[in-house]
Amino acid sequence: MKVMVAVKRVLDYNVKPRVRSDGSGLDLTNAKMSMNPFDEIAMEEAVRLKEAGVATEVVAVSCGTVQSQETLRTALAIGADRAILVETNAELQPLAVAKLLRAIVGKEAPDLILLGKQAIDDDANQTGQMLAALAGLPQATFASKLSVEGERLLVEREVDGGAETLASPMPAIVTSDLRLNEPRYVTLPSIMKAKKKPLETMSPEALGVDVAPRLQTVRIEEPTARKAGVRVSDVSALLTALRNEAKVL
Ligand code: AMP
Repeated sequence: MKVMVAVKRVLDYNVKPRVRSDGSGLDLTNAKMSMNPFDEIAMEEAVRLKEAGVATEVVAVSCGTVQSQETLRTALAIGADRAILVETNAELQPLAVAKLLRAIVGKEAPDLILLGKQAIDDDANQTGQMLAALAGLPQATFASKLSVEGERLLVEREVDGGAETLASPMPAIVTSDLRLNEPRYVTLPSIMKAKKKPLETMSPEALGVDVAPRLQTVRIEEPTARKAGVRVSDVSALLTALRNEAKVL
């Protein structure tokens, strides 16, 4: 069973985003970048399937600039066998990524395609769903548990009031939720080993995909700064403040 995992390079979740002064986007100069946290969870799950003897090969795929090689090396250090970079300097929107991933799915024919439920930079939560539609494959989004039972995939999802379990034939697309697993700490020996693993690069043109953006970002703004709070002396002062200010009581 071959597993393909899509991993995106994003601004590290610990870094406070800086908006460019002209509002045209984020200033990523010298900013720390990392693998999208949900993709790290997806990669961990794929590697666990391999370690359990369920998967035979794990392929990591990233679309973006040459720097996405670093993200792919992290995926290889977690335990992917090989990596593919679809290299482009173009701004990639979810539909373009879904088309690129569909092209790779066509070449690689994986049995299971894992993605994060959402990228923490664009918060789109679209790519997995779009890929499923384009590739005509079943999808289970927001997976909190995943197992393979014979020919079928079982996916548990957290829904309002409980858990839902879906069964799907393979190939299938699954997007990972936060509680699917806790990714491992990547050790230095595995980082060293990852340097020697194969990383193939291809272009959107070679895959026959037009990645031109369909949406235009009009403006990005910082959230308005929160006003400082006030200290109250006792509970009755707090209640008075709440009655007067928030009008909640
Ligand atoms: P999004 O729809 O942008 O919220 O992204 C959902 C998931 O799609 C991410 O968690 C990744 O698994 C995958 N994805 C999005 N963009 C890329 C990219 N440029 N390269 C590889 N995978 C991506």
